[in-house]
Amino acid sequence: MIRENLEQVRKNIAAACERSGRDPSEVVLLAVSKTKPAEMIREAMSAGQRAFGENYVQELEEKYEIFGDSADWHMIGHLQRNKVRGVIGKAGLIHSVDSLRLAEQIEKESAKRDTVTNILIEVNVADEESKWGFTPEETEAAVRHISGYEHVHVCGLMTSAPITEDPESNRVYFRQLKELFDHIGEQKIENTDMRILSMGMTGDYIVAVEEGSTMVRVGTGIFGARNYN
Ligand SMILES: *Cc1c(COP(=O)(O)O)cnc(C)c1O
Repeated sequence: MIRENLEQVRKNIAAACERSGRDPSEVVLLAVSKTKPAEMIREAMSAGQRAFGENYVQELEEKYEIFGDSADWHMIGHLQRNKVRGVIGKAGLIHSVDSLRLAEQIEKESAKRDTVTNILIEVNVADEESKWGFTPEETEAAVRHISGYEHVHVCGLMTSAPITEDPESNRVYFRQLKELFDHIGEQKIENTDMRILSMGMTGDYIVAVEEGSTMVRVGTGIFGARNYN
């Protein structure tokens, strides 16, 4: 089932790229494996999947213990400052940097380990009460501030658009984030790359790819519904 789902998602990404005149190799598929057991990850890996997204530090640590660097691990969930230590050196990319204090903690822990940690800046593009992240207006200043850290490298932006039945209603947010991404990229800020635009989940990744996403985070569409009990 996982193999078929992966094939279908890859096909959908390729078709969305074709419609929007993009090269499918520009889009990385991140399989969101939170709450899912190691066997399912193994199955996805045997179907050629390499990159996995996790939301909880302890779960990421457990899966890293099992698979190590045979897969690429991404931290996509809200990260508390006192948990940062657990992901340094394990997550190749932290998508969910939503405050300057968190970035500062990542800098500190990375310096201790003499490593540079790749991050994305999370943007609350729809200005939802319930969501973490910088407002679009704050984002450029945040990127500039964090670019001064030696052990943190900003690689782009991330957003989680509103949960909706109609993915078309998120198109405007994806378009807005892509504009911000391009605008910040044009500033050529030192020690910063705008090369990863992480947007699109199971419900809306096709629209996100049409609007310029370079990394989609798909969980349910690959592994099936999650059970939190
Ligand atoms: C859980 C999660 C996803 C995947 O959600 P699906 O709807 O299952 O594809 C993507 N991004 C973030 C930040 C998540 O927490």
